[in-house]
Amino acid sequence: MAYVVIATSFAIAGAVVARMKGNSVWLWFLISGAIPFLGLLAAVLYRAERDSLRRLCPGCGKVVMLHDALCTRCGTELDFPEVAIAPESANVTAGR
Ligand SMILES: [Zn+2]
Repeated sequence: MAYVVIATSFAIAGAVVARMKGNSVWLWFLISGAIPFLGLLAAVLYRAERDSLRRLCPGCGKVVMLHDALCTRCGTELDFPEVAIAPESANVTAGR
């Protein structure tokens, strides 16, 4: 019985974290409830799109997501960059 209470608590905590970060509430509710401690940890560590690393397109200078293979503005093929730009949510510049 105690496990159910603990799992539910973690599930709610995971859902709250997901909601704050703009992630899927139900997905993280289920994950955090299924694997209480690690699920919640994953919810905390999981980064939404706006927290992803970015880089500049060499063709047009648009800031695109690090994992994008094509620039969404000019269509330039993008190799994996040597330098990444810090996420929007971070104020510090990413080092190498
Ligand atoms: Zn471009």
